[in-house]
Amino acid sequence: MTDFTATKRMFHLPEGMTYLDGNSLGPLPLATPQRVGQTLQDEWAEMVITGWNRAEWIHQPARLGDRIGRLIGAPEGTCVVGDTLSIKVFQALAAALALRPDRKVVLSDTGNFPSDLYIAQGLLGALGQDLELRVVAPEEVADHITDEIAVLMLTEVDYRTGRKHDMAALTAKAHGAGAITVWDLAHSAGALPVDVTGAKADFAVGCTYKFLNGGPGAPAFIFVAPQHAMQARPILAGWLGHAAPFAFEAAYRPADGIARMRVGTPPIIQMAALEAALNIWDHVDMNDLRTRSIELSERFIHAVTQACPDLTLASPTDPAQRGSQVSFHFHEGYAAMQAVIARGIIGDFRAPDIMRFGITPLYLDEADIDHAAAQIAEVINSKEWDRPEFKVRAAVT
Ligand SMILES: *Cc1c(COP(=O)(O)O)cnc(C)c1O
Repeated sequence: MTDFTATKRMFHLPEGMTYLDGNSLGPLPLATPQRVGQTLQDEWAEMVITGWNRAEWIHQPARLGDRIGRLIGAPEGTCVVGDTLSIKVFQALAAALALRPDRKVVLSDTGNFPSDLYIAQGLLGALGQDLELRVVAPEEVADHITDEIAVLMLTEVDYRTGRKHDMAALTAKAHGAGAITVWDLAHSAGALPVDVTGAKADFAVGCTYKFLNGGPGAPAFIFVAPQHAMQARPILAGWLGHAAPFAFEAAYRPADGIARMRVGTPPIIQMAALEAALNIWDHVDMNDLRTRSIELSERFIHAVTQACPDLTLASPTDPAQRGSQVSFHFHEGYAAMQAVIARGIIGDFRAPDIMRFGITPLYLDEADIDHAAAQIAEVINSKEWDRPEFKVRAAVT
């Protein structure tokens, strides 16, 4: 059994703050400053450029990729870390499209994160060829999988509502229609058990600063299924994805397998922070995490809906259909969230009217959930949100 009291002690949780926003940015693991300090002082300071070999910086993207792979059911050598998630979406979608050159349609849904849709729009526009991005309601995706579809591109867990797609079933349907799948695991990796191998996903991507706690700006990851690894075309043909980067050849030749999805120089300091965060996951069983996430989510939903008749649940009521976040609709959601934050309960707001709370068992327990629900109830029922200072919009919501 995972000891969640022990994992909670592995994080710095600011005094007076109850943190329900780990779905957006995980808190600082206590081991991170020392690990980052080691890269700065023992490696960069003392080794300078020789750190690429002596501290094995050059292998960090593959090593960390394998460690994330273990959390998402990816075999060794199929997952690599680097760049940002938006870049990884671009690479995965481009490679997927190249595997279906005779088809014109990318299918996605309105629950996908805007960056994924924007990246698709940008890529399809640049490729020309009458390619179409078709965006349907999440509940209607299955019905739109036809033999027109080149790529089914979805985020498994909806960033606003927490609604979870059935990755295995939709992938099976896509394959039945001859389509390739690209799954975004931004709200899945570190949030719930994921099995890209069992689901037969073709490509998967995700970020590491949300549930994985890698820190602001931590690099993203990409998985390419073994059967595509030697065909996947790297549209961003950078030198570190070349078969022989230090041969400095004029023409690009892709590296074997997943290494071709590397682009340029990786963020070594940021990867040190990610490594410290990934050490925590060695103590966690993903099935225990899921059980605990559901217990805490159900407790939170029950407490908030009982106490606040003005809030309506935006997340599915069936826990099996949810990721690890709980969202509510409220007409003054922005102001209410600011008032809740002023009381030390950190969630976030997503337009047009969603108050969103991440449920992260690594560092949240029953007492946190009960405290948060009580504070939310006071804000809503006393109309504390109706103060002018809570209605001023900040740059980041
Ligand atoms: C958080 C998130 C992103 C953010 O992409 P970045 O390039 O890391 O800024 C993209 N897609 C999804 C689905 C997300 O949840």
